[in-house]
Amino acid sequence: MIMSKEALIKSIREIADFPIPGILFYDVTTLFKDAERLQELSDTMYEMYKDKGITKVVGIESRGFIMGPILATRLNAGFVPIRKPGKLPAETIEESYDKEYGKDTVQIHKDAIDENDIILLHDDLLATGGTMEAACKLVKKLRPKKVYVNFIIELKELNGRSVFGNDVEVESVLSL
Ligand code: AMP
Repeated sequence: MIMSKEALIKSIREIADFPIPGILFYDVTTLFKDAERLQELSDTMYEMYKDKGITKVVGIESRGFIMGPILATRLNAGFVPIRKPGKLPAETIEESYDKEYGKDTVQIHKDAIDENDIILLHDDLLATGGTMEAACKLVKKLRPKKVYVNFIIELKELNGRSVFGNDVEVESVLSL
């Protein structure tokens, strides 16, 4: 299916002052609930990565858990979750990062990735890049062959992509 970026953008709901005053929140649930748009998004992301030899899609809790597994099945890849502390049951490694207020930590199972893997790291939205930077460091600790980073939406003005090194390919479906 040919993707209309305009139609995709239109399907994302914008909510002012959520979760705190001053934030314009991009609500992707309105895209996901629309069968045609969801199919278009899935097709577009599949086309972006079908020739990259991806072996595992890694999704960041929690909005990376929606397109992550959809994409994994299309790419014949596995799916691996990155979660908030205390949620994964087996041995984990972790990475902490600074947020506007205080710190946050992400964890992954230690045996989830190995040196033969080509990883597609996915989240719904790139803002400052702090979350994905930590996720990327975490994944690299497990020494995969290559890491690709993908978002549905990138907020250009915040220049979040500047946090990533040249060894990582960063792509978004929509640049807003
Ligand atoms: P950051 O670490 O600043 O790049 O923030 C990215 C994470 O926060 C992602 O998991 C997003 O889901 C969420 N996020 C940040 N800003 C927004 C926004 N304006 N609308 C929707 N989600 C956001």
